[in-house]
Amino acid sequence: MSTGVWLIGARGNVATLAMVGARAIARGVSEMTGMVTAREPVASLSLPEVSDLVFAGHDIRTQSIEQTAEEVHLSSGVLDRTALNTVRDDLQAIDERVKTGTPISCGQVVEDLADSQAIDEATVADIVSQIRDDYAMFVDTHGLDRLIVVNVASTEPPLESPDRYNTVKAFESAIDEDDRNLPASSLYAYAALVEEHPYINFTPSTGSALGGLCELADKKSVPHMGRDGKTGETLVKSALAPMFAQRNLRVQSWEGHNILGNTDGAVLEDEANEAGKLASKGGVLDSILNEEFHNRVRIDYTPPLGDWKTAWDDIRFQGFLDTQMKMQFTWEGSDSALAAPLILDLVRLTAHADKHGEGGLQPQLASFFKSPLSVDEHDLSRQFELLYKYAENYVQEENR
Ligand code: NAD
Repeated sequence: MSTGVWLIGARGNVATLAMVGARAIARGVSEMTGMVTAREPVASLSLPEVSDLVFAGHDIRTQSIEQTAEEVHLSSGVLDRTALNTVRDDLQAIDERVKTGTPISCGQVVEDLADSQAIDEATVADIVSQIRDDYAMFVDTHGLDRLIVVNVASTEPPLESPDRYNTVKAFESAIDEDDRNLPASSLYAYAALVEEHPYINFTPSTGSALGGLCELADKKSVPHMGRDGKTGETLVKSALAPMFAQRNLRVQSWEGHNILGNTDGAVLEDEANEAGKLASKGGVLDSILNEEFHNRVRIDYTPPLGDWKTAWDDIRFQGFLDTQMKMQFTWEGSDSALAAPLILDLVRLTAHADKHGEGGLQPQLASFFKSPLSVDEHDLSRQFELLYKYAENYVQEENR
């Protein structure tokens, strides 16, 4: 069984590191460190091998995947030269399969990233039809049994009044009426779901979160999940905040300040594009701590940091006899090296769900996301229980 992976934003940092990692694992020069699917009980599921994944995708820039890999290596020292040299030919072959995408309704800062051929005057219906053709050609050319579409493109501004697209009919009418408010992420998602390709949204963009697209996924029994990968500061928050809640310590303020220097950081410098990211980062604490407190997250672009993101968090809390206490932590992570293994995990787990006819939203994948669709639980360990339960049930069944 061959599994294709279609990355929207294929020439970006996260996509590039996911592909470099997969090919480096395939060629025996890297390990699966950081991958949840390499660890029990998930490792016992019958999942597609990382080395068998076949990659392609859309992007709006012409900078090659190899150039992005070089850039990450030189500016951030994240990839070691041996791994990069070993997979260079693989990256070139994948890059030839990358098609020009659409930046429609992604905000000015993303349009500015696009090379001119990506900004065309095509109707929304034509854009959708082109995306469907791109997926189909990849599936046919490589004789794929399954295609998983993953959104790792730049963050879009939040969509205003998403309720207007609450049914499949409303979404399809909007396409027919050339409604240019429909964001690119939802067009890629629609094209995937209508073709029965599972879809994962690793970004805060709208993607498949619209009522109409959830209805479509349910009707066609196609797995989909999102949104916004949980990889750094928010991951720590979702592990730490339950401790304060469980010990009945009253959090009075949680101030988080993030600085990063990659293209993602540059896009998030635009207030419109930053809004969605701030909403999903802030929401995690509100739901775990369930009390009134000062909760603020900032994200600032600091170019010399490259792919490294630093987060400083300052937590003030009150204990017994109103005693005031505080905790501070600093997180320094390579944004893309944290995200890339999760892309491979999500692909493998979504392929598994698809193989077993598990259509619609995938709550067992909640631990991967800052804003897991349909799951109110943000406590990291409880989210992991959902995944482990899913895995244990299938492992029992598969061993029967
Ligand atoms: P990046 O800027 O390096 O890559 C994004 C790529 O998407 C670029 O190559 C860009 O040209 C392309 N792109 C933009 N709009 C597009 C469109 N409409 N169609 C096709 N391609 C498009 O960013 P990154 O660091 O790789 O992050 C990718 C996404 O993942 C961002 O939305 C980011 O917020 C999200 N994310 C990243 C992390 C992490 O890195 N740890 C965690 C959670 C979410």
